[in-house]
Amino acid sequence: MIDIHTHLHPPRLFAAIRRWFATNSSWDIAAQPQEPHEVAAVLRDAGVERFVFCSYAHRPQMARELNAWLVQTGRTLGGHGVPLATIHPDDPAYLNDLRTALDEGCAGLKLHEDVQHIACDDERLDPVYSELASRSRFMLVHVGPIPWVYKKREGLARVERVLARHPNLTIVVAHFGLPDTLDYFELMSTYRHLYLDTTMVFAPSSPMHANVAAVDAIERHADRVLYGTDFPNIPHDYLAEKRGLESLGLPASTLRAVLHDNAERLLNEAET
Ligand SMILES: [Zn+2]
Repeated sequence: MIDIHTHLHPPRLFAAIRRWFATNSSWDIAAQPQEPHEVAAVLRDAGVERFVFCSYAHRPQMARELNAWLVQTGRTLGGHGVPLATIHPDDPAYLNDLRTALDEGCAGLKLHEDVQHIACDDERLDPVYSELASRSRFMLVHVGPIPWVYKKREGLARVERVLARHPNLTIVVAHFGLPDTLDYFELMSTYRHLYLDTTMVFAPSSPMHANVAAVDAIERHADRVLYGTDFPNIPHDYLAEKRGLESLGLPASTLRAVLHDNAERLLNEAET
């Protein structure tokens, strides 16, 4: 299988993120690995043939250095882990930062609206989206302040504005589009490059577990759902997400598309 949504960060940033979770959440994630090769080993043992990993520039003046670390880490993982770039629109050369990161091997861009204090429909991102679309790269976006606050339709409206301006941009909305999952599935009929990842939504003990009545929608849009986990910052066993997906009773072909084929297609497109 291919995991479209994992995290690797430089050691100091990772330690700060772990401290944040320890202070601000009840998630028990202290025992999960942080070192890239240890994270990769867990994934490999679980049957993950490739994984996409990301970090994020939560303030200006760090994206370039972070991208260099992500690219270098991807190289040491020998193709098992594929990095996504980060940018910050308050940086003067953020479009160049993206171009450099894509040139050096990033498969696309990760945007985290809440952590980065960026709205995905910020017009400064338009040249970024044009660049991604023209190079068949995708954006993985964590929309809004979930899982801490759930605001219906606000994030959805921002994503729809981006798609209206960039209908050829491949957008992967993280965490199954909560809390607007079914509305995103509706949008897929209009925008054929819109995807959802499953991250943290199907593991039964996940703090983001949701009983979304989406089995029919997944089958109808079997080519637009991607397996993701948020590993290693998850307070449950790595394979819980996969087991949750398997328990939905989806046809084998749909499950295979979600766990592998759809992500492989996106990554292959990104390489061309
Ligand atoms: Zn994440």
